[in-house]
Amino acid sequence: EALSKIFDIKGSIRVFCRIRPFVLADNRRISEPVSAGSERVRVKFGGTRKDFEFDKVFTQEVSQESVFVEIEPILRSAIDGHNVCVFAYGQTGTGKTFTMDGTNEHPGIIPRALEQLFHKSSLHGSSSFTFSMSMLEVYMGNVRDLLAPRPNGRAYEPITKCNLNIQTDPKGLIEIEGLTEVQISDYAKAKWWYNKGRRFRSTSWTNVNEASSRSHCLTRINIFRRGDAMERKSQLSRLWMVDLGGSERLLKTGAKGLTLDEGRAINLSLSALADVIAALKRKRCHVPYRNSKLTQILKDSLGDGSKVLMLVHIRPSEEDVCETICSLNFAKRAR
Ligand code: ADP
Ligand code: MG
Repeated sequence: EALSKIFDIKGSIRVFCRIRPFVLADNRRISEPVSAGSERVRVKFGGTRKDFEFDKVFTQEVSQESVFVEIEPILRSAIDGHNVCVFAYGQTGTGKTFTMDGTNEHPGIIPRALEQLFHKSSLHGSSSFTFSMSMLEVYMGNVRDLLAPRPNGRAYEPITKCNLNIQTDPKGLIEIEGLTEVQISDYAKAKWWYNKGRRFRSTSWTNVNEASSRSHCLTRINIFRRGDAMERKSQLSRLWMVDLGGSERLLKTGAKGLTLDEGRAINLSLSALADVIAALKRKRCHVPYRNSKLTQILKDSLGDGSKVLMLVHIRPSEEDVCETICSLNFAKRAR
């Protein structure tokens, strides 16, 4: 309820902030540079302090359940026919994957959303819904299909469908050529495919953590509502849930193991995303979708009538203050 109300009043782009729990290895708590209220984050650095406003702030102790309660109304928007994009943004290690995927004991937004979709759509009375799912990864401008069948069906085989083309169909819908789209008829099936996609993501890399910091992982649910003879037209909406590549400024910090090209690719696509959101926010006529694969893919889901939720992640430690401020500035630009 709360979120849909916020959307009605304040337009279609919302920015939430989630602060990761932080304890030192020896369990000591240092005087942390980050403090937060329900809609504000304050960062202390170099003897000064800076405040950032958000639509909502999730502090360290907020559970996955409570986060989902705030996100859940956006699912109704998707069922009601809006295109929806949910992004997890932040430097590597701040909890983006924890928020989106979660763990078995603490499932994140995507598995919970899959469960809710079937629940909510069944509450929608006589209308009949069908859902399909795709998962893809964008790495250095290369689009990979995470649900593509492997020749021998083994998870550790290399991904066969790489470097897919992005096309616009006559209706203005974005089509990713050859992307696998699986029908999901119930939650169990949805979860099975989702786990498969996650496994394929990680097995295409030697080191999962490094890998996810270099690529964007996108899960798309197409929601098709069949029209009825009397009143409703049929309608297609898209729900995107995106675990973005790490936002750390690689060139400055010389982050471990990342090549210059990988760093540049991520930083360019994140700033392309920020530019698109800023242009939409200010209702500019020219929206620069073409500057990255990420924004090209999301073009039909980021425009008019769409809902965008940016979840900015930070880690409240002293050594991360610079990156934290960068992330919060990014959020400020979107908001
Ligand atoms: P990212 O995807 O941004 O690189 P991860 O989601 O992998 O970060 O999180 C890094 C580590 O911190 C993981 O071990 C994760 O389980 C843990 N973590 C992140 N956020 C939370 C949280 N809110 N509560 C508990 N553990 C968390
Ligand atoms: Mg991650």
